Amino acid sequence: MGEAERGEAAPRLRIGYWCSQGHETRVAFAADAEVPELWDCPRCGLPAGQDSAAPPPAPRTEPYKTHLAYVRERRSDADGDALLEEALAKLRARRGA
Ligand SMILES: [Zn+2]
Repeated sequence: MGEAERGEAAPRLRIGYWCSQGHETRVAFAADAEVPELWDCPRCGLPAGQDSAAPPPAPRTEPYKTHLAYVRERRSDADGDALLEEALAKLRARRGA
């Protein structure tokens, strides 16, 4: 009896986290534990924050699909790419000299 009491005695905090997909995750922490600001959503893996109205945006490591979309977007910016190519060519030429 005494043993069980000692084990369950620590008060707990229940913190809610919300990801940008609208998943709610409740995590229990010991009252003296450091509560992390962000929690990985167990359903979709996105970072979840404690503010349900403003969940953290896209994760830092973007999936390959999103990266491709990003590259396609950039391709429409032909002038920018041309300038970049020129700058790279100059850099390479300087290195070769
Ligand atoms: Zn989620």
